[in-house]
Amino acid sequence: MMIIHVDMDAFYASVEQRDQPDLMGKPVVVGGTAQQRGVVAAASYEARKFGIHSAMPSSRATRLCPDVIFIPMRMNYYREISDQIHEILLRYTPLVEPLSLDEAFLEVTDSTRLFGGSANIGKRIKNDILAELGLTASIGIASNKFLAKIASDLEKPDGFVQIPEPYQEFLDTLPVTRLWGVGNVASKKLTKIGIHTIADFRLTDEKVLEKTLGHRAQQLLRLANGVDDRKVIPEIEAKSISRETTFVTDIQDFRTLESSLMHLTEDVAARLRRKGMFTRTVGIKLRFANFRTITREKTHAESTNITQPIWKSAQNLLHNAIGGTKFRVRLIGVHLQSLVSEHEHNNSLFNRTELNQQSQVDSVVDSINERFGKSTVHRGIASDPSKN
Ligand SMILES: [Mg+2]
Repeated sequence: MMIIHVDMDAFYASVEQRDQPDLMGKPVVVGGTAQQRGVVAAASYEARKFGIHSAMPSSRATRLCPDVIFIPMRMNYYREISDQIHEILLRYTPLVEPLSLDEAFLEVTDSTRLFGGSANIGKRIKNDILAELGLTASIGIASNKFLAKIASDLEKPDGFVQIPEPYQEFLDTLPVTRLWGVGNVASKKLTKIGIHTIADFRLTDEKVLEKTLGHRAQQLLRLANGVDDRKVIPEIEAKSISRETTFVTDIQDFRTLESSLMHLTEDVAARLRRKGMFTRTVGIKLRFANFRTITREKTHAESTNITQPIWKSAQNLLHNAIGGTKFRVRLIGVHLQSLVSEHEHNNSLFNRTELNQQSQVDSVVDSINERFGKSTVHRGIASDPSKN
């Protein structure tokens, strides 16, 4: 097995620093203020230098660093970005198991041939996340979940660690606190009997370990030997698939918007196909320069997973929403809802011959993009729907 653990660095705080560049390099805490009796949800690395960490009362954070800047949580926004990260991960394997908004395991055993090794996949994920989302992730690569999670934490932030095979020599040098479940209390007990590293732990008599830690000793011994056979369990099918992009400068030109929407649509449609799902509802989202946000949706009688009809629908929605008007758009997005499995899918209303052709076009585009990286191939934009 080849497992990658992806862990975003100080996720909420990094998102806020990215969006408000004057927060870069400053101690930032996302969470409620001391006056609000708040708690630290995330601390930037600059804040961590003062000893601030998550779950700490904000009043204590303020005492540790009087200059700390509090930013309110924007949970829905972090969730959107988490979806975008998830979509990046799904480019490399369908076996993605999210642990939280900012952490996931990937099983890449079968993807390594396609992408040239697990280290390559790890590097590409890191690059994609940085280039597309402006955020850093730490990557751990190993032959199981336990080792991969240790690895991602070793060089945080912006870490990249692949645990070598055989791994035991590497594992042995690490402090025993790296074992899951060895917290303060256990580590004090272990220090007392001279156990500091994982090697110390592993080479200690089982009876002694059991006397010190009770029934947990067996499980910890397995981990100390690097044994962990838990599988990566992909997320239960998402009920919707979405993708959006925020422009660096506001867009006032319809063609530019259309072309962004086309790229996003290709993305969500490819993801839909990877999941083996079909959609009936296509929606778009627009956020204007004044932050007013609108969504438009269209539910069709029949489901599809083919890019062309999905794109037609999205293009129509865009046209009806703002075609022929003046606008300044800062964000555009597309989402697919009412997802159904192949079993529930029925495309009898569409012309089958044409759809079969389109379906073949899609699979060629998908395989090229999967081989050479996203967005190698795009369709041309179809004609203006108002002229049809
Ligand atoms: Mg994290």
